[in-house]
Amino acid sequence: MDTNCIFCRIAAGEIPSTKIYENDKVLAFLDISPMERGHTLIVPRRHWATMADLPSGDPETEAVMSEWFRVARLVCKAAIKAFGGGANLLQCNGPAAGQTVPHLHLHVIPRPGTVETQPSFVSGARAYSSDVEREATAELLRRYLR
Ligand code: 5GP
Ligand code: ZN
Repeated sequence: MDTNCIFCRIAAGEIPSTKIYENDKVLAFLDISPMERGHTLIVPRRHWATMADLPSGDPETEAVMSEWFRVARLVCKAAIKAFGGGANLLQCNGPAAGQTVPHLHLHVIPRPGTVETQPSFVSGARAYSSDVEREATAELLRRYLR
């Protein structure tokens, strides 16, 4: 754990988050500044900053990667069932690629619109109107994950 890292601290339960799913390897929680309703981050518990920091050929790392993508897939499927339309997966490595939190994460961004709607990649484009709306959104995703 990196004590200066916000996602390590969320994983450790030191900073609150609206969790959708968690196990011993990964956790999924709502983005604090969503691009769309239900925008979720899938985060390995272990701290690596970017893809470039992952060791190759290490079985433990491979197991985390496999679990990371399995959960991303499930959240993606749940988002499409919950909100309709489609979904984007987004993963940024390094500030030049728009990474603002240097702890590996995958974004799942629901896209409930139609093909005519241009997807926004703007952080905070769809803020929750209340804690009630945020929790209701999380609960909907959790239900479709079961
Ligand atoms: P990046 O730009 O690094 O790919 O994405 C980082 C994401 O983390 C952003 O979408 C941002 O809104 C989100 N984020 C930053 N700090 C927090 C936080 O404390 N809690 C949650 N839930 N999300 C955060
Ligand atoms: Zn970290």
